Amino acid sequence: MIFTPFSIKRFPTHEVRVGNITIGVDSDIVIQTMCNTPAGNIEAGYKQSKEVISAGAQMVRFAVRNRADAESIGKIKELLLKDNINTPLVADVHFSSQAAFVAAKLVDKVRINPGNFIDKRATFDTKTYTELEWKEELNKIELSLNELIDICVAHDTALRIGVNHGSLSDRIMSKYGNTTEGMVESAMEFLRICKKRVFQNVVISLKSSNIRIMNSAYFMLAKQMQTEDMHYPLHLGVTEAGNDLSGRVRSAIGIGRLLGHGIGDTIRISLTENPVKEIPAAQKLAKHFKHRKPLTDTNNNWKEYNPLDFSFYKSHEVGNIGGKKPVIAVCDIRNYRVLDNIMLEKLGYKFNGKKWIATSQAADAVYVKDIEIITELPENLSIIYEAGTTKMPCENATPLFNNLEFIYIADKSKEFTKWVSLTNSDLSKPAIIEQLRNSPKTVIVLETMSQNGYADQMSAFLKLKSAQINNPVIVKRNYVSDDWETFVIESSADTGSLLVSGMGNGVWLTNPFLTDVEDNRRLTFEILQASRVRISQTEYIACPSCGRTQFDIESVLAEVRSKTNHLTHLKIAVMGCIVNGPGEMADADYGYVGAAPNRVALYKGKVAVKKNISADIAVEQLIELIKENNDWVEP
Ligand code: SF4
Repeated sequence: MIFTPFSIKRFPTHEVRVGNITIGVDSDIVIQTMCNTPAGNIEAGYKQSKEVISAGAQMVRFAVRNRADAESIGKIKELLLKDNINTPLVADVHFSSQAAFVAAKLVDKVRINPGNFIDKRATFDTKTYTELEWKEELNKIELSLNELIDICVAHDTALRIGVNHGSLSDRIMSKYGNTTEGMVESAMEFLRICKKRVFQNVVISLKSSNIRIMNSAYFMLAKQMQTEDMHYPLHLGVTEAGNDLSGRVRSAIGIGRLLGHGIGDTIRISLTENPVKEIPAAQKLAKHFKHRKPLTDTNNNWKEYNPLDFSFYKSHEVGNIGGKKPVIAVCDIRNYRVLDNIMLEKLGYKFNGKKWIATSQAADAVYVKDIEIITELPENLSIIYEAGTTKMPCENATPLFNNLEFIYIADKSKEFTKWVSLTNSDLSKPAIIEQLRNSPKTVIVLETMSQNGYADQMSAFLKLKSAQINNPVIVKRNYVSDDWETFVIESSADTGSLLVSGMGNGVWLTNPFLTDVEDNRRLTFEILQASRVRISQTEYIACPSCGRTQFDIESVLAEVRSKTNHLTHLKIAVMGCIVNGPGEMADADYGYVGAAPNRVALYKGKVAVKKNISADIAVEQLIELIKENNDWVEP
């Protein structure tokens, strides 16, 4: 199977039954979440599980540290059954195969992490294993996994093999490093044992906070499963995605790009928020991909496309667009009649007493219509106007032509800078291709009306590449939902999925019902950041919290964010627990990790440099640590 978004066929998986839910084959994408009530607290877990279930969660997971925690989920299940609620419950077990054995008798599904089920936790120590030692370790895994499978078979319990990029075992890392290959092999070792036992009730996940790593791992795993004739359903998720806009955007891109290729049977959008809020976000993402249509376009050679290629389309520069220039943000202010100082501030510019200067998230171009400009414009802000219907709003404004105007009216001079609005089908017309070839200073605004817009726009990039056209391309998408979260999820999945593939030199979003300039600009920059094509703000890596968290992670993250959000060169992690946090915070420059009630450990890279700090002073100490390492700049 070639993975592309053009057909809407799902990657073939077999059916896994988890309680009353079916995952895999052609079942709808199953929406799940994880409670963040203290592990072992039956009352709180029961209450929150009812809340997430009534919000639409089809499966609910709980952190399990030990046998007692496992038993407490069994009790929650009993309480829910008394209320006639039979939503499957899942035990999330790390470091304790014994707890997994207990949980498998009581709940519907058990998640184990190959990085710590039997293998030693990641310490990042390097050890070389002999062939014999490697085999002995695998034998130990097989012994324990067989014991767990026996219990699962006896109790009709499903299993998730949940690999996390941040918690590969030392053994796997000694051979593969902290790589996607290591993630895939870590999963395959467990799946081969399941296959040998003919145990089918298994779902698999390969999560990472890095979208490219997470995406690559799933594509590689799917391919490897095909090679080894396996069809285990896939659970998708981006770890440590954070909260608010960035959490939603990162998850929508990471999960959406895979769903767009037909990969994925169940999803969780992890947010550092009340888990109830994860459900509508996940539902909107699943719905977006459910209703797309297959793309039948015979003009392309799909084999040129490789989802592991993150730099597919290479363009030349036109002004501040394309080539090695950052991917640009276009803001659509067609509904506004005046471009004044207030509008410039909304567009991300600051006046320094002499002139307007761009902040790190200033719009690079604005699309205007019948607008009066009553302020001095910043040097680097391009003004785009519709050539056919609008008069030129100011000197040096750039005209936008439609396909016919481009061929018949537009100035044919090679030096004339212009934008042209084109669709995928326009790129099948020889006259358009010829005109593009003769217009090196033309920027393409790629539009789509397709019900599979992601595939339609990707098809356009394939055509451009095979015609050896390398004009810069702005990916433009028009949405009509008046629900902000739907707009965020859909636009992120559609445009971010292209940007991750290296398709697009700019993003332009429109929505006639959601026209707030600042909101839309922030959304565009979040998409660019999450796709890793333009870093314009501090990157926060925050776990969603779970039963192991012993502090209010949402408010700590908000405080850390408010004090450090000008440090655009840094990645800062806020993690709920010392057990998994340090491994999962991946490549963060600094980390705030909950260690015990009211106690925090602060990390520089992977090293805990300040331990046992009182939570009351931990954020201040984090800032001190950043200063001590000369990474602080004044806001
Ligand atoms: S890092 Fe966060 S989500 Fe992961 S186990 Fe610890 S507290 Fe739970």
